[in-house]
Amino acid sequence: MADFKVTHLDADLDFDSLPYWDVVIIGAGPGGLAASLTTAHRGLTTLVIEAKDKPGGQPQFLYADKRIVDIPGFPDGVTGEELSERTYRQAVDALVQFRFHEELKAIEETEQVEHEDQLKEVITNNGSYLCRKVIMACGLLHFPRRLPVLDALESKKVFYKMPRIGDYEGQRVVVVGGGDSALDAAVMVLERGGQVDVLVREETPVGKADTLQRIEETGGGVHTSTEIERAEFSGDQLALKLTNGESLLCDAAVVQIGFLSAKDTFERLGVRLNDDGSIAIDAYYETSRHGIFAVGDVHGDIKLITVAWAEGIQAAIYAFKEITSPYWLNEKRLRDHKITMIGEKITQAAAAQKAATKKR
Ligand SMILES: Cc1cc2nc3c(=O)[nH]c(=O)nc-3n(C[C@H](O)[C@H](O)[C@H](O)COP(=O)(O)OP(=O)(O)OC[C@H]3O[C@@H](n4cnc5c(N)ncnc54)[C@H](O)[C@@H]3O)c2cc1C
Repeated sequence: MADFKVTHLDADLDFDSLPYWDVVIIGAGPGGLAASLTTAHRGLTTLVIEAKDKPGGQPQFLYADKRIVDIPGFPDGVTGEELSERTYRQAVDALVQFRFHEELKAIEETEQVEHEDQLKEVITNNGSYLCRKVIMACGLLHFPRRLPVLDALESKKVFYKMPRIGDYEGQRVVVVGGGDSALDAAVMVLERGGQVDVLVREETPVGKADTLQRIEETGGGVHTSTEIERAEFSGDQLALKLTNGESLLCDAAVVQIGFLSAKDTFERLGVRLNDDGSIAIDAYYETSRHGIFAVGDVHGDIKLITVAWAEGIQAAIYAFKEITSPYWLNEKRLRDHKITMIGEKITQAAAAQKAATKKR
């Protein structure tokens, strides 16, 4: 049986005076947007907290112009920006509420109980929200790692995400970094008629070999085992001196050298973490704290938009089931109960066997 029937929220609902939210979702990236649609389509009041000024997550902020080709149903690809806007529109139509420019700080347990749920208080830099369930969908990547030698220029020509096409079309661009994001950025410059030099600190870039080959075949320069030693202005351009002695002039520099992890936020939440600093979850996407779920890159092994979508949807449905089923029919409790019963039977059988052995 299909597990779905759209239950529209009342368009006249005064969201500002709700005593508490059914679900608060942290992050308006692919995972958070998919989760929010799913809870709202099931009639749950849903609030999404997003640290940035726009929805979309990485596809919007890191590769808005890139044509994404691995989303089923988009045979000609779709840009990060378009995909983000489409998903956001769907969430807004479902009456999901958003708070932008708000960053999660903590999640506290309260004494207040509603329908057997002990309410949680989600605390942000700008306020606090009571709710029954929380879905963490804030990604693993937080802020881009910065390059002090370029920051010192305080220049608008230094970018920590892929600039808009108009900012580099036909220009000479230096890309710093050897991972997939850096190589993808270099390909985009070349596809837009620009010239590109990729600066890699390691001997060999760690990004995909075929992307690297594409860069080299289309005229991109790849400089390995080198870093920027000095940077200054030369007229309208940036003049870079490299540690291998080379000098380069460019119209823009794009830095893609990874991200600082969101581990600090996770540690503040008091949820169990995996060895790599990601959030540990059970088979129901629930963290070690009851009622707090985690989806997408925050815990993920496979970091893809479609995976974040699927997990967001699953966690949303588990949250929905917990909110709407009587507690004795709750799927997770039934499973845990079954496991406990099996455990008890094993213990009883072991005790009986021990007693029988003693008698002999
Ligand atoms: C360069 C690059 C290219 C990629 N290309 C592809 C591709 O072609 N196809 C594909 O399927 N995947 C691709 N990916 C991976 C894909 O983008 C991610 O797997 C996906 O975005 C994960 O979604 P998410 O919702 O888990 O997290 P995110 O997209 O990271 O979204 C998390 C959101 O949470 C917000 N947030 C973070 N902390 C807080 C906080 N404390 N409070 C409030 N909000 C917060 C962030 O601002 C962000 O908007 C690519 C990734 C990169 C870096």
